[in-house]
Amino acid sequence: MQGQEKKDIASFYLEELKEEMESMGEKSFRAGQIYQWIHQKLADDFSEMTNLPVALREKLDAGYEIRKMELLRRQVSRIDGTNKFLFSLTDGNMIESVLMKYKHGNSVCISSQAGCRMGCRFCASTLDGLARNLTASEMLRQIYRIQKLSQERVSNVVVMGSGEPLDNYDNFVRFLRMLSDRNGLNVSQRNITASTCGIVPGIYRLAKENFQITLALSLHGASQEKRKELMPIANQYHLDEVLHACDDYFAATGRRITFEYSLVQGVNDTKEDEDALISLLNGRNCHLNLIPVNPVRERKYRRPDKKSANNFKNNLEKHGINVTIRRELGSDIDGACGQLRRRTMISEAR
Ligand code: SAH
Repeated sequence: MQGQEKKDIASFYLEELKEEMESMGEKSFRAGQIYQWIHQKLADDFSEMTNLPVALREKLDAGYEIRKMELLRRQVSRIDGTNKFLFSLTDGNMIESVLMKYKHGNSVCISSQAGCRMGCRFCASTLDGLARNLTASEMLRQIYRIQKLSQERVSNVVVMGSGEPLDNYDNFVRFLRMLSDRNGLNVSQRNITASTCGIVPGIYRLAKENFQITLALSLHGASQEKRKELMPIANQYHLDEVLHACDDYFAATGRRITFEYSLVQGVNDTKEDEDALISLLNGRNCHLNLIPVNPVRERKYRRPDKKSANNFKNNLEKHGINVTIRRELGSDIDGACGQLRRRTMISEAR
């Protein structure tokens, strides 16, 4: 098959597209036109590119593809208008994306992998392991499709869907460059947040890329022991190393780290956890996001009640920690990462 496969043209940087044009014997300005069709006018097909000669469109069609993504399901929350999308990729893999509407703009949450191999105990995305990495174009297309389907401009992007972005480093970085490219959607890097479970070498590498994106670190436990209970990745990277890498990211970029902490009743929400979290975050220029755990059918974890979650938050606040409880969106539409995908995969397998 190799050699016959069409090239994934929507993953090319503009510069690379220019080289492609040159090697095809075409003028390099054509690259700019094609790039604009794909990344600004959000074309799905070469036939839409009406300012290109038909012969060129045919040549493109023969050697390249704009990978299609089929919308399998769209669920709209009756509570808060959150939209959840289930897409299928050209090879049949399924991914989820979410559109959240806030006063300050529209935010899209995308997946970076089909499935995940990190194994966090409370997360539905990882139950069937990793199917494969997504290409840059497959990450971008989630945003493009949602912008077209909803007719709403996307101003914020969070890489917090299924998958671990730093486990798909090269495609992820390519995606970031293209998303914030002024020749593309031109989303401000300051409006992009990527969440990692704490792959230490990836965090150091990312710090050197000169991005202005916000890094969110999935903490979930304030001691090495607690973290290990919930996140297998903690066996690979000790909490001290992870925090060191986060400090380095802040020092290199000036961007404050967001720590994410999924509150799990009886597991990481005790007084002892609170104290440990306070001493860990004290003096760090950061933000803490508490996420009452979204119960996943296959797991036994439960969230604390509203009152205890609020107490937990207030006590941290008293110690000067910048903390919010994440507003829950889409709780009626399989809001937690990977739930919709998994439910659909299971019912199709029956
Ligand atoms: N791989 C990345 C992105 C994961 S999803 C990471 O680990 O950070 C984004 C956040 O949602 C992570 O903090 C993840 O731990 C959390 N999460 C996943 N499933 C959850 C659930 N059922 N309830 C609450 N938070 C969850």
